[in-house]
Amino acid sequence: MADKRDYYEVLGVEKSASEAELKSAYRKLAKKYHPDLNKDNKDAEAKFKEVNEAYEVLSDADKRQKYDQFGHAGVDPNFGAGYGGGGWSTDDFDLGDIFGSFFGGGFGGFGGGSSSRRNAPQRGESIRTSVVLSFEEAAFGCTKEVSVTKTERCSECGGTGAEKGTTAETCSHCHGTGSIKTTRRTPLGMMSSSSPCPNCRGTGKIIKTPCKKCSGTGKERITKKLSVNIPAGIDDGQTVSLRGEGNVGSNGGPNGDVLITVSVRPHHILERDGTSIICEVPITFTQATLGDEIEVPTLDGKVKLPIPEGTETGKVFRLRGKGVPVLNSSRRGDQFVKVNIEVPKNLTKKQKELLRDFAKSIGEDNYSERKSFFEKLRRK
Ligand SMILES: [Zn+2]
Ligand SMILES: [Zn+2]
Repeated sequence: MADKRDYYEVLGVEKSASEAELKSAYRKLAKKYHPDLNKDNKDAEAKFKEVNEAYEVLSDADKRQKYDQFGHAGVDPNFGAGYGGGGWSTDDFDLGDIFGSFFGGGFGGFGGGSSSRRNAPQRGESIRTSVVLSFEEAAFGCTKEVSVTKTERCSECGGTGAEKGTTAETCSHCHGTGSIKTTRRTPLGMMSSSSPCPNCRGTGKIIKTPCKKCSGTGKERITKKLSVNIPAGIDDGQTVSLRGEGNVGSNGGPNGDVLITVSVRPHHILERDGTSIICEVPITFTQATLGDEIEVPTLDGKVKLPIPEGTETGKVFRLRGKGVPVLNSSRRGDQFVKVNIEVPKNLTKKQKELLRDFAKSIGEDNYSERKSFFEKLRRK
């Protein structure tokens, strides 16, 4: 449970994704990791389950809303302790709080909140965004600028929510704890749980004179440009995070992160498979027969590739170290060049005659594969 991934991350979509976007992302991934296509691949099997689970929740409007509000705990009744990624604060986490929220009428009482103890340190929410990279930018890395709108500590009151020169008072009802212990009957028996203090709405504090700039929230919304280093070798759909650049935490909790998912534009000739670059190059019948030197596009520009005499169609040549850099390493993958022989068309009468003469002069003996094929055929 501890490393359960965010459902949006699993499907590789934005938090604001439409139903159609979810569906399309799900179909793509479900196909990719389908057990029928990945026989005996435990990793794919786990991914397939994860993708299905994520879609099962996010495709259901009600479950999605609960998930958005409460994270995995909102949609998984068997959810245990130890989760660190969602809306729950890890510092102040006990089962009583969950049941308090679920059975104690915790819903609705505190919009967007996550723990019933509002004065517990809470991590700020992470922000998702995306950048589009060219094929080369993804391969070699680059620096990109992203603009995010996020909450920061109010510059006027420094996050206290109290007007400058005044301070927030400790709530006398809950003595600043922000929660009231209650015992109630639940479907699981008698449960002791804590619910937010009604006097201070769980904050533990009473602000007599709220800060005008932030209306007492202690937070303000700003739009900020962030510079992000995209590492060499990143691939389509992968995410780079800027730690602590997300929404500000509450009550001393850490800030959320900014998670930037990259999408890579395709190249007009080269194809990428992990760290390998693949390209197909058409060569002529004469180049294949006589041998030649051809020019091949690579990430580093054009390189010369010798084609030996008698090269068969479909032959794959390897250009070592001409692939994509391995993420966080100085190594690079290879490029694979597949040559395809193109048969000449629309020959003139003269050209056809030359070829017939050529065929006569060469006979059958020079075609070893063809010869052995017909020998096998004859033996049967
Ligand atoms: Zn303020
Ligand atoms: Zn209180």
